[in-house]
Amino acid sequence: MSGIVHLVGAGPGDPGLLTLRGARLIAAADVVLYDHLVGPEALEHAREEAELVYVGKQGGGPQTSQPEIDRLLVEHARAGRRVVRLKGGDPFVFGRGGEEALLLRDAGIRFEVVPGITAGIAAPAYAGIPVTHRDLASGVAFVTGHERAELDWEALARFPGTLVFYMGVSALPRIAERLVAEGRAAKEPVAVVERGTHPDQRTLLATLGDLAARARSAEIRAPAITLVGPVASLREQLAWVEERPLHGRTVAVTRARAQASALATTLRELGAAVVEAPAIQTVALPAELPDLGRYDLVCVTSPTGAHELFAALAQAGRDARSLAGCRVAAIGPGTARALAEHGVLADIVPERAVAEGLVEALAGVAVERALVVRGAEGRDVLPDALRDRGAEVDLLVLYETVATPLADAARAAAASADFVTFTSASTVRLFLSAAGADALERPRIASIGPATSAELRRHGLEPDLEADPHTPDGLVGALVRAAAECR
Ligand code: SAH
Repeated sequence: MSGIVHLVGAGPGDPGLLTLRGARLIAAADVVLYDHLVGPEALEHAREEAELVYVGKQGGGPQTSQPEIDRLLVEHARAGRRVVRLKGGDPFVFGRGGEEALLLRDAGIRFEVVPGITAGIAAPAYAGIPVTHRDLASGVAFVTGHERAELDWEALARFPGTLVFYMGVSALPRIAERLVAEGRAAKEPVAVVERGTHPDQRTLLATLGDLAARARSAEIRAPAITLVGPVASLREQLAWVEERPLHGRTVAVTRARAQASALATTLRELGAAVVEAPAIQTVALPAELPDLGRYDLVCVTSPTGAHELFAALAQAGRDARSLAGCRVAAIGPGTARALAEHGVLADIVPERAVAEGLVEALAGVAVERALVVRGAEGRDVLPDALRDRGAEVDLLVLYETVATPLADAARAAAASADFVTFTSASTVRLFLSAAGADALERPRIASIGPATSAELRRHGLEPDLEADPHTPDGLVGALVRAAAECR
């Protein structure tokens, strides 16, 4: 049976601007062929076993040739695979998606198209510029600014609306000159949006008359969208990206891969450039699953613990009903959420997400036999406290956290960040062994709570801020406050 090719638009850069359908198809793909302008976050939706093939520009050199891309598309689809052809923005807007669809039709291969948010709309939107407006622009034209394109400048100058040029950075002087020569006013507003929707987006406001000089002195680089029309000046009132609380800040997030995303996503939505420094990863450990019915209390001390517990149950051919007779305690809201994903609502969730908080929350609860589910490097506070109260306590160690050497690029990025976040004592240890303490010389250190801060101090590092409450949201709040103080 022949496979299928999905021509998917990845959006303009902000990972949140990929469509739900696009994300679902990436997650189901066997092969993803992706372009230069596709951000790394879009690829994170892919399965671990999926083959990810970069077909963009090779280190500034020539693009993988179109015949080669065509050959790969046909070959993978004929082998029965689910192929995602992932392109920046929208696949049918200056993306050669049309050519590839024609090729697939000719080859008799099934294809579907998933539109994406095109840069010509997204970059202006993130610059505070609506491309149409009842009084200012009754239409919008997407135009190639490629130097080799033959354009009808007279028609473009007469177009009654906004002109949006793609690929036009080196042609900016010519675009301005030709439009003025054909009758557009030299004082007509122009906006150039570089790396639109990315955290380092820059916007230049100019006029057709001074565009060439100003773009040169601002050293505008591709990718950039050039928008010509009176709507451009609305930016003066509508700019919003620059007002996000973490705009212009770089935050390095040091967590295990899977968990990092939630914190990273929140930080990105607040405008931060996020560097993920996955210095650690969790590895499941083989464990003999006891009969959970023996316990009147089961404590789960991390989201990973919750997921691993259900993985272990599933492997033993069991499910959530094994917990039917037990009270379930989660160490904090994140762990409670992870349990809820598996259909179990925790009975006890302390407000302070630390072992001491859980001990307090359990004060009035009668316990005879308890099971503590945790990672190999967990602390003994909770089991010790339960034993002191006369309970019989078993540990179920389901995973360990190991250091992965940080790639040079990630290390350099973390070292030049404004903030580095630590969300557990083990991330402190593992980050230091993966990246070294000198990576922390410049950034301010943000700790999620007292146990993490204590670990930092053991290594001679004083946290600059500590979250309260000791949760990822608390950490975000502390970062926002710190960023506001040093504007
Ligand atoms: N299919 C894409 C366009 C591909 S052509 C889309 O629909 O967006 C490549 C051009 O798109 C770049 O030269 C630039 O003009 C524009 N572009 C792509 N991403 C951009 C971004 N994040 N900010 C500004 N322009 C971008």
